[in-house]
Amino acid sequence: NEVLLEVENLKKHFKVNQGWIASLMQSVSGDGPDYVHAVDGVSFELRKGETLGLAGESGCGKTTTGMSLVKLHDPTAGDIVYNDKKLSEANDAEIAEFRQNAQMIFQDPFESLNPRMTVYDTVAEPLRIHDIRNETARVQRALEFAELLPAEQYFDQYPHELSGGQRQRVAIARALVLDPDFIVADEPVSMLDVSLRAGVLSLLDRMTDEFGLSVVYISHDLSLLRHMCDRLAIMYMGKIVEKGPTDQIIENPQHPYTQALINAVPVPDPDVGRERVELRGEVGDVVEIPSGCRFKSRCPDYIGDVCDQVVPPLEQKTDAGVDQDIACHLYESAEGYDPYAELASM
Ligand code: SF4
Repeated sequence: NEVLLEVENLKKHFKVNQGWIASLMQSVSGDGPDYVHAVDGVSFELRKGETLGLAGESGCGKTTTGMSLVKLHDPTAGDIVYNDKKLSEANDAEIAEFRQNAQMIFQDPFESLNPRMTVYDTVAEPLRIHDIRNETARVQRALEFAELLPAEQYFDQYPHELSGGQRQRVAIARALVLDPDFIVADEPVSMLDVSLRAGVLSLLDRMTDEFGLSVVYISHDLSLLRHMCDRLAIMYMGKIVEKGPTDQIIENPQHPYTQALINAVPVPDPDVGRERVELRGEVGDVVEIPSGCRFKSRCPDYIGDVCDQVVPPLEQKTDAGVDQDIACHLYESAEGYDPYAELASM
């Protein structure tokens, strides 16, 4: 498929709020402020009509990546290329067009909807912001698509009058009303009652098919991502450690972190259970970034100095499937990169 969006070495760092005493001491000592490296050099592409899953433990940077994709954060460094145009070089009209085409569905429908706005105004608001006509017909169509029927019956209702599932459907209608090119869905069902999840997931599935949308799903739930996504990118401490087609990643995970994540997913039949790889140690420090591989303190396959010193690049490996990139020194680079030569030159 044609590429819709290209994320190029995206970084988002947040200043650590340490209080005025620490800030004063830093300004006296001449040290700069500390930064959380929430996203630290992430690159991937989103193709037209595809569904991509961003997975990883909380704090790995997947939500910050998602919010940067729809420009709710400006990147600290790196860029996003949309329809062959770098957003950092786009003019106001091009940014407005991008915002119209990039929508987000948030985890918590209780917080993402304004409690003082009716369903109608909530869904109509993006049309007003972008000065788009045919408001009533478009709001009605979006609510009908989200299976809030009959739509008119919901027009004057407020979020507190709706169930969690209905609120998330309103959020989906609001995201769809502008006919966007892509949607970022951040843990779209994790706050919903288990009985409501399947209905919202099948609506999201239908949304992808019928609108030909590209969707980025953000979740820690690999079973959900397996069901919803064509491709997966696994994140750890602000970086992608493995990415590729979903089946390939789930059936044949190569990075030790991906293996541990997949083995943490319960397998219904114990006879087909995989060998469990336990994650030891704590997630590393995202302020004082460690040298070499960020997973080294927890890695069951740690192989010494090369892991300790050399940052493993995300690249194709000789023993992995096509289109599957891995950031780990255990595997031989298919691109001719030699981490041991880099180690020797240090
Ligand atoms: Fe483990 Fe080394 Fe691979 Fe990092 S590079 S995941 S520490 S084997």
